[in-house]
Amino acid sequence: TINRPKDVEEARLLLPIVSEEQPIMEAIMLNPVVVICGETGSGKTTQVPQFLYEAGFGNPDSETPGMIGITQPRRVAAISMANRVAHELSLTSSQVSYQIRYDATVSSSTSIKFMTDGVLLRELATDFLLSKYSVVVIDEAHERSINTDILIGVLSRVIKLREEMWKEGKAGAKLLRLIIMSATLRVSDFVENKSLFPTPPPIVNVPARQHPVTIHFSRRTSPDYVTDAIKKACKIHARLPPGGILIFLTGQNEITADIEAEDMEIDLQDQAQLDSDFNENMGDADEHVLEGDLDEDIDQELGIDTEESEVPMHVVPLYSLLPSEKQMEVFKPPPANARLVVVATNIAETSLTIPGIKYVIDCGRAKERRYDVTNGIQTFQIDWISKASASQRAGRAGRTGPGHCYRLYSSALFENYFQQFSAPEILRAPIEGVVLQMKNMHIDTVVNFPFPTPPDRFALQQAEKVLTHLGALAKSTSPASNREMVDSQVTDLGRTMALFPLPPRFSRMLAAGQHHQCLPYIIAMVSIMSVGDPFLYEEAIQEGDSTQEDSEDISYLTNETVKAKEMRRLRRKEYFQSQHRHASLGNFTSDILKALSVVGAYEYQGGGVEFCSQHFVRFKAMEEIHKLRAQITNIMRLYFPETRAEFSAKLTPPNKIQVKVLKQLVAAAFIDQIAVRKDLTEHKGSSGGAQYSNSHSIPYRAMGISEDVFLHPSSVLSDRPPPDYIAFQEVVRTSRVFVKGLTTVNPA
Ligand code: ADP
Ligand code: MG
Repeated sequence: TINRPKDVEEARLLLPIVSEEQPIMEAIMLNPVVVICGETGSGKTTQVPQFLYEAGFGNPDSETPGMIGITQPRRVAAISMANRVAHELSLTSSQVSYQIRYDATVSSSTSIKFMTDGVLLRELATDFLLSKYSVVVIDEAHERSINTDILIGVLSRVIKLREEMWKEGKAGAKLLRLIIMSATLRVSDFVENKSLFPTPPPIVNVPARQHPVTIHFSRRTSPDYVTDAIKKACKIHARLPPGGILIFLTGQNEITADIEAEDMEIDLQDQAQLDSDFNENMGDADEHVLEGDLDEDIDQELGIDTEESEVPMHVVPLYSLLPSEKQMEVFKPPPANARLVVVATNIAETSLTIPGIKYVIDCGRAKERRYDVTNGIQTFQIDWISKASASQRAGRAGRTGPGHCYRLYSSALFENYFQQFSAPEILRAPIEGVVLQMKNMHIDTVVNFPFPTPPDRFALQQAEKVLTHLGALAKSTSPASNREMVDSQVTDLGRTMALFPLPPRFSRMLAAGQHHQCLPYIIAMVSIMSVGDPFLYEEAIQEGDSTQEDSEDISYLTNETVKAKEMRRLRRKEYFQSQHRHASLGNFTSDILKALSVVGAYEYQGGGVEFCSQHFVRFKAMEEIHKLRAQITNIMRLYFPETRAEFSAKLTPPNKIQVKVLKQLVAAAFIDQIAVRKDLTEHKGSSGGAQYSNSHSIPYRAMGISEDVFLHPSSVLSDRPPPDYIAFQEVVRTSRVFVKGLTTVNPA
């Protein structure tokens, strides 16, 4: 009954995993938990769901009628893999469906469901036994995202419960199977963890059918890796045989920078400094390396002449903020005769296999969010990747034939500075959200939870403290429990908060914000905060032309440079006008109200890319905010019919009273994230210390942070006299410790 397209049938036979179908299915039938390891591209994500489907999983008339669920850490992978598997099996998009935060194609006829790991985690809160599923596949487990780790811990308990019920012969009880898939062999945190799986699950290794990849280290580690990467790509293009080029850079800024642009972005200069520090340390170690250009060695080796190429390059960017349909471009074949060049962040490291890549250029760095659990300070750092990541990146060149990987760093640096593996996310990110999810599943003693890698106890305590502050948790008052340590439990408010796909702080605002017809604004504000600041700040307006052609007549300017300069001046003027306009909602007191203003204006004009260019906001962020507003409104209507929540995209500006209420709600939600002007804490009682005309360089103090903090220059408060108290959304360390997402607070 399986009817695959002919080309699919042929391509499948070449995938290493297809010859392992028998041992894989045997292991799955005989064990409740199975671990499958196989190189990226070996066929795990597309084929394992098909093996299960062919064996009757997800078929209502079989012994295993429940759905096949597959989790992905990223939305783009959930969507593209669902499409691909539907195509391979010639099934419809409701039979093979996906569900992500904003969007789903699931129906009663769904047999195979791809979803983000966050979606499955929330399903567990309403159906702990996952009764709709007969098998769950946790994919990309090697990435060790928080959600993946928690899911594996929870599912280890769920499969046991399902087995007990099945053994007791409960009506309709069926087994649930768990499959953990990893692109690396580093699975000891799962298989050797006795509290997780008392009987170690079997590991099926899919032998790699990987072609050899020749690794070329750079002689020196140049700080300007963006330029180096571009140069290297051009050289490969001019001199080496056909085959796609995949370039790994660290962030969107670098990727969107014009491939021929000479001026690099400002934040890369800090990076240059960091790199040159490394180079000073590494200088000696590099001395022994042969003089002479490696490229030329290769050219000789391969007998290539150095003629310019006449074939065009087809450059495609790939990063997570790119709209999904743009992300799909990488799967399309390049125009006839052109060479595909994909410029990507580490999204291309394991989850998407881009066809036809023969050359990989690896900058060796990745941008990572770090989070200090002791004080909540975040840093976005570009740092060296792990050796495991470097090898994943190199592997991308050997899918279709022998390939080459050019590492833009020296082998000495690689040996001495690269960690073997990177630390799991749970050790370096806030965990309030998952702690609430766990409490909501009645896992009360979180310290005893079978984490693959347990987080710091202090981090767990901290998370419980924040959740208690927010009213989501309370100590149990049951007289039956007379233990010394009473674990806190989820409150009614906490249960409500857990219904939303949002960080607890934001769901708290929704649960509280139903007065003065404020709900639509609160929904919009939490959507904004959850998606992230939509504004593009000053550096974003360096390029691009004025969008208002008729704004000022500049046709009298004939000299091209003068004209370009004048265009930039006009564009800047537009930028400041638009910033000023939106900041005036709430009279320059809140970054969140400023974003609310732009969302209102966007919806009023019916959305669109043009609006975004005129108002200096990110289109993808605006679209996500739109979808999230609709989704949250639906949840409100479903669970809180008394709120009469109705979604209408358009928002009239809030009135004065509403603005006041909104600001109070922000203050309440960020009650433990308030900063006070430092001079106020020093001159007790005096109202307002010295007078300043702006907040630049005015130190503030915040609870739990031992250093002074400063208002971020992007804030609407930055160019105003410094307020006494502010609520902040996040703390970021760059050149200083800055608080961001600010709203002034009036002390009661
Ligand atoms: P793994 O999960 O082991 O990394 P996948 O199952 O994702 O491997 O990929 C197996 C093969 O299927 C790869 O060779 C890839 O090129 C191909 N493939 C995956 N998605 C698509 C797609 N959307 N279009 C064409 N080929 C695809
Ligand atoms: Mg995969």
